Amino acid sequence: MAERTKYILDESEMPTRWYNIIADLPEPPPPPLHPATGEPVGPDDLAPLFPEALIAQEVTGERYVDIPEEVLDVYRLWRPSPLFRARRLERALDTPARIYYKYEGVSPVGSHKPNTAVPQAYYNAAEGIGKLTTETGAGQWGSALAFACATFGIECEIWQVRASYDQKPYRKIMMETYGATLHPSPSELTASGRAVLSAHPDSPGSLGIAISEAVEVAAQDPGARYALGSVLNHVLLHQTIIGEEAILQFEQAGDTPDVLVGCTGGGSNFGGLIFPFLREKLAGRISPVIRAVEPAACPSLTRGRYAYDFGDTAGLTPLLKMHTLGHDFIPDPIHAGGLRYHGMSPLLSHIYELGLIEATAVAQQECFAAGVRFARAEGIIPAPEPTHALAACIEEALRCKETGEEKVILTALCGHAHLDLPAYGAYLAGEMVDNELAEATLQESLAGLPVSAG
Ligand SMILES: *Cc1c(COP(=O)(O)O)cnc(C)c1O
Repeated sequence: MAERTKYILDESEMPTRWYNIIADLPEPPPPPLHPATGEPVGPDDLAPLFPEALIAQEVTGERYVDIPEEVLDVYRLWRPSPLFRARRLERALDTPARIYYKYEGVSPVGSHKPNTAVPQAYYNAAEGIGKLTTETGAGQWGSALAFACATFGIECEIWQVRASYDQKPYRKIMMETYGATLHPSPSELTASGRAVLSAHPDSPGSLGIAISEAVEVAAQDPGARYALGSVLNHVLLHQTIIGEEAILQFEQAGDTPDVLVGCTGGGSNFGGLIFPFLREKLAGRISPVIRAVEPAACPSLTRGRYAYDFGDTAGLTPLLKMHTLGHDFIPDPIHAGGLRYHGMSPLLSHIYELGLIEATAVAQQECFAAGVRFARAEGIIPAPEPTHALAACIEEALRCKETGEEKVILTALCGHAHLDLPAYGAYLAGEMVDNELAEATLQESLAGLPVSAG
């Protein structure tokens, strides 16, 4: 019998609900706090930034949230996404492990980001909002939101981290093709941007600074709202379509994962894949090890502090209890732009504190070595971010080779690298370096944490 390579669901089998893990946790995550009062933020505090429907999803205790028909309609452009069995990689590694990957690179922009960009644009448009502002680093999120806004006919204004704006012209062209307006960040258009520029005229920017700019503009415009591509509960909620599909595909395969690995920047692709499996684990039906993999240069889970901190550099957002490197932290310019954020999703941070997941950090050369190995076996060139998950996946598979264990490994392959090929160019030319994050640098950044809240 021919060996099966991929598990495909019919459109009619696509899940129609997102899953909210908070309903099944032994205790809920600590709430966001208002920086001035130290009290939990209420819906009114968030109303200038987000539409009502998303504020409700941010705090809901319901186990499932129905996906609107209009959103399902757009999802069907590329969903359900395939689950692959990486038989060629298994053979290349000579491992008894069975390796599966859930591939999100089939979306129009090449990553998992549209899974949340589409519902965010939909809910804003449904409430009469005419414009969304946002930040983007390498441009994955910006291009997803630009696509989603085009779909629902609303404007999209994006602040892109200066270093990426200058170095990665193709994502910029992609965002403009979808009709978005782009600014390099820091910019002269906002008080937050001007403050950074007056202190550091050559600032390469950071996600934290770009968030400040986008939040500032949305807060001052009653016809605009702000959209965030990761970190928040409603974003992780939307991404659970990934894990819900994967569960159905594992039923097709007649297999059960023993190890789940995924890369974590703000935590959304990882949370999206693992939460439905964690539901099954908490119910005692399966017992996989679940491991987050982050860059050694930006290790919020493994070396950050679990504390209340701002989501942005200027301190305009509510205080979030999360694993953080400090809101002033500017990570080294590693190639995995999507993993260069100072904080980690509060929900995922809480789940990590509860001991329900593990975390590890990997330096970028090992990640690209894994990416090249994967590409030569499976054909897909992984985005720099999921090469972190692949490095951990390959390590696990090679351990199985030594012990003879036939573990089943599932990894999130959250995007392809077609617009990040210069990173592979640098690796192949031997020009890539691993920068260690010095303890003194980290301590200096952590010293800037807000002191008022626990
Ligand atoms: C944005 C991005 C990430 C990091 O964000 P998460 O919220 O942690 O998923 C990872 N991979 C890709 C391909 C991305 O575009």
